[in-house]
Amino acid sequence: MPRTLIEPFRIKSVEPIRMTTRAEREACLENAHLNVFKLRAEDVLIDWLTDSGTGAMSSKQWAAIMEGDESYAGARSYFRLEAVVRDITGMTNFIPTHQGRAAERLLFGAVCKSGDLVPNNSHFDTTRANLEKLDVEAVDLVIAEGRQPSLSHPFKGNIDLARVEALLIAQGARIPFGMLTVTNNTGGGQPVSMANIRAYAALLKRYGKPLIMDVCRFSENAMFIKMREPEYANTPIKAIVQEMFSYADGATMSSKKDGMVNMGGFIVLRDDRWVETLRNDLVLTEGFPTYGGLAGRDLEALAVGLEEGMQEDYLRYRLRTAEYLGEKLDAAGIGFVKPTGGHAVYIDARSVLPAMPQQHYPAWALCNALYLEGGIRGVEVGSVMFGKRLADGTETYHNMELVRLAFPRRMYTQAHFDYAAEVMADLKQHAGAVRGVRIVKQPRLLRHFTCEMAWA
Ligand SMILES: *Cc1c(COP(=O)(O)O)cnc(C)c1O
Repeated sequence: MPRTLIEPFRIKSVEPIRMTTRAEREACLENAHLNVFKLRAEDVLIDWLTDSGTGAMSSKQWAAIMEGDESYAGARSYFRLEAVVRDITGMTNFIPTHQGRAAERLLFGAVCKSGDLVPNNSHFDTTRANLEKLDVEAVDLVIAEGRQPSLSHPFKGNIDLARVEALLIAQGARIPFGMLTVTNNTGGGQPVSMANIRAYAALLKRYGKPLIMDVCRFSENAMFIKMREPEYANTPIKAIVQEMFSYADGATMSSKKDGMVNMGGFIVLRDDRWVETLRNDLVLTEGFPTYGGLAGRDLEALAVGLEEGMQEDYLRYRLRTAEYLGEKLDAAGIGFVKPTGGHAVYIDARSVLPAMPQQHYPAWALCNALYLEGGIRGVEVGSVMFGKRLADGTETYHNMELVRLAFPRRMYTQAHFDYAAEVMADLKQHAGAVRGVRIVKQPRLLRHFTCEMAWA
C-alpha cells in the first residue's frame, strides 16, 4: 500500500491566488496597521485565518443549490434537510438559524436566566459571550492534560467529570444544563472520547440536568474516536456520530464547520419543552421556522454537506493534513500544541522567538512575519487576544503565545502545506530579524480584531 495519503478529490473549478512581492506585502501590512485582520483577503496567498465558512463546496453541493426551493413557508428544501438532520442526530426538533451564534443566542435566551451557571469542556468565545450577556457564568472544566500544550493525550478535549460533579453538588440549583464542545475548539480542536461523552451524560442525568452539545465539528470528533478509541476501530463514522448524539438532549451547530457550507447553523432538540418559545423567537429575529435566516439553496447545500463531512476518506485526509504539517514543524524544531487537532495547528511562538519579551507580543510578531515571509495569514492566540490593558496603563498577559493556522475544508493541497512548512523553517533560521510590536490604538473589548500596531 502506498503510504502517501492523497486529497480524496480532484479539482473542477479553480480560484486563483495571487503571489505578491515582499515589498508589496510590507506595504499591505503597514496599511493594515500591522494587524492581519485588516488585510484585504486578495493580498493573502494562503489564508489560514479560520476554517469557518471558508471551505470548498463539492459539485454535488453546487448541483443541490439549483434545487433550492425558495418558498417562504414549507419549502421542500427545509423538509429535505430536516430528514437528514433527524437521521444523523436522532432528534425530532430541527430549528435552522443563519449561523452558530444565532443558535446559541436563541437557546440560551429561552432556557437560561441571570445567575445561572453552565459547565463545558471549553466554551467557544461566542458561546461564552452569549451566556455572559445573560449574566450566566460560563465555567471551563477541561481535563488537566488539555491545558498543557506540549503534553500528548488522545482526548485532550475530555471534560473533568470529578470537577463537574463537585459543581453539580455545590451549585446544582444554578445549572440549567451541561454543555460539551466537540471538538474542543478553544482547547486546540482536541477531541472528546465516546467514553467521556457517555459518562458526562450519565452524570448530568443523575442530577436531572440535560446535556446540550456544541457540535460544530462532530464529524472530525467521530473520526478521532474511530482512530483512537479501540472499540470503535471498525464502526462506521455515521454510527459513531449517531451514538454521540444519542447521549445528548439537544445541540447547537455552526454549519460553517462540519456542515461543509459557507453559511448556516441550527438547533436540534430531543423533546418539545423549549421548542415553542424558540420558534416564536426565531420568527422575530431569524425568520420563519422553515428557513431560519437561510435561503432554500443554503438548506440544500447543507443537506448534502452534512453527509459528505462524514465520509471516512475525507476525514482521514482532513485529520492527516494537520498532522502532516505538525511533522514538518517537529523536524524544523518548531513547537506546537500536541497532538495536532482536527482543524488547526497552534504554533508555540516562544519556540521560534525565545528571546522576544512578552510586551512585544511574540505571537503577534510571528503572525506578521508569516505574512511578510510567505503571504500566509494565521491568527494570534496570545496576549493581544487574551491580555488586557488595565486602567493604570499596565498590561496583563496570556500564559501562552500561540499562532493558530486553521485549515479551510477541501481547499489547499499538500504543496500549499509544504510551502508553509518551508516558510516557517526559514523564519526560525532568521528569527533574529523578526520584529515585535506595540499597541497604538485598541478598543475595550475583543481588541485583536481591530487594534492598530506599530513596530516595537
Ligand atoms: C464557530 C463556532 C461557534 C459559532 O458559530 P458561528 O457560525 O461562527 O456563529 C460556536 N462554537 C464553536 C465550537 C465554534 O467553533
